[in-house]
Amino acid sequence: MDFEALREFMVQTQLIPRGIHDKRVLDAMLKVPRHLFVDEPMQFKAYDDMALSIDENQTISQPYMVAIMTELLELKGNEKVLEIGTGSGYQAAILAELAKEVFSVERIASLAGRAEERLYAIGYKNIHIKVDDGTLGWPEESPFDRIIITAGAPKIPDPLTGQLSENGILLAPVGDRSSQQLMKMIKIKGTITEEFHTLCVFVPLIGKHGWKTGE
Ligand code: SAM
Repeated sequence: MDFEALREFMVQTQLIPRGIHDKRVLDAMLKVPRHLFVDEPMQFKAYDDMALSIDENQTISQPYMVAIMTELLELKGNEKVLEIGTGSGYQAAILAELAKEVFSVERIASLAGRAEERLYAIGYKNIHIKVDDGTLGWPEESPFDRIIITAGAPKIPDPLTGQLSENGILLAPVGDRSSQQLMKMIKIKGTITEEFHTLCVFVPLIGKHGWKTGE
């Protein structure tokens, strides 16, 4: 299959018409080989306008959702980014194209391991992955200029707000288990402001400061 042509088609039909306009984000979506982040039998669907299943009942988010979340992070290239929910590693790869360093936390060890293998094989050197409860953040590496949660949270975990740097942006799907809204939190002079964006559906953020179980 001509995956490069499929990526171009994805950008032209799913991202630009829905308002994604940051050229750096569009270029990253054109560049990162999304098909390498799903199992081989699913690769023909990798550029479709939908989330796809990965192992352990988890998902790789719809391309548009990855693009809008990335655009809302306003990355310029020098940032240290924390991602909660490594999953397949695809969002981490997009972030790594646009920021200086990416720290990504995944609670399921097998997913973290596969993501690490893929990212290494593709050649990313600025992504660090650890297996842990991401609702606790990554205190030893904090503060972070940007934090992105890629699982649905009942509320923003307090440890993450604490690990966000001054002028930092935190983005998360917040709501109940069946639907959420993208929330963008901006910290300026110690004061937090909140904006709400598109509605979305993510698998649950499970942990000490998230949902207690996957049910
Ligand atoms: N960003 C991923 C990608 O590009 O493939 C998609 C993430 S998937 C929608 C959500 C992920 O969050 C799952 O892999 C899930 O195991 C993980 N997750 C849920 N709760 C977590 C927690 N407390 N800490 C870390 N990861 C968590």
